[in-house]
Amino acid sequence: MQTLELVRTWVVVVSIALSACAHTADPVEFKVQKLSDTLYVLFGDSGNIGVSVGTDGIFIIDDDYDGYGDDLQAAIARISDQPIRYVINTHWHFDHAGGNEYFGRAGSVIIAHDNARERLKSGGYLETHDLDVKPAPHEALPVITFDNSMTLHLNGEATQVIYVEPAHTDGDAFVWFRDSNVIHTGDIFLNGVYPLVDYSSGGTINGSIAAADTLLALINDQTRLIPGHGPVTGKADVKAFRDMLVTLSERVAAMKKNGMSLDDVIAAPPTADLDDRWNTWGDDWRAISLRSIYGALP
Ligand SMILES: [Zn+2]
Repeated sequence: MQTLELVRTWVVVVSIALSACAHTADPVEFKVQKLSDTLYVLFGDSGNIGVSVGTDGIFIIDDDYDGYGDDLQAAIARISDQPIRYVINTHWHFDHAGGNEYFGRAGSVIIAHDNARERLKSGGYLETHDLDVKPAPHEALPVITFDNSMTLHLNGEATQVIYVEPAHTDGDAFVWFRDSNVIHTGDIFLNGVYPLVDYSSGGTINGSIAAADTLLALINDQTRLIPGHGPVTGKADVKAFRDMLVTLSERVAAMKKNGMSLDDVIAAPPTADLDDRWNTWGDDWRAISLRSIYGALP
């Protein structure tokens, strides 16, 4: 099968999955990891979900695909019976903000960066996935937005939501539980997975590298990182992700400069020494990652 066909096949699979998600999805069993008495991570079908619980109520970071709201709500209720007061979106992608409508209707206040709200509101074409994303309904839109950062004073600590310059998209934020020494990174860091530079949502390669550098400057050897996808981990894996991003983008840049087509780059591919660690989602995802880097280059 030609590589581009592989990408198309993947897109079809995702599209089917997405259309199937509209409130008719099969139940998802969320796996729970406890990080502290007030912090949990839920691993569902897609983006990792951070959960802060305590006497002030619950707030969550990201809310998976559309269609899984009941399952996610039930999984959270097993941790705490308090109401979910806030939902923070790390960015606008449908695998992180797809549950917004469900939780918005249920009364949660949705928070995101200004640009993430704009993209949710308008929808848009994801060139890396050849996918049209529809405008989100009113109930799914963030009610509170911020430009650079904001702080939530809940459950015994000051939690900062911090914007990074255009990286994975142009509306990425990470969430820093400074006292707990835990960060939910959104998709500016993926653990063991090739990156996506969503240039059609304003993402950039240099910004992606800079975002990883921003994380590395903040964290220490004890920091626990909740990646956008993959298991909870520490600083060494962020450093490895950053270095892989630099290596991969340099290689793809050289190939593009030499006149290689996207198909030739994907067919090459320039990842032989990287695949053991990073090709955990398989060749279709690797092709999408390469496509995103190739397309983000000048
Ligand atoms: Zn994303």
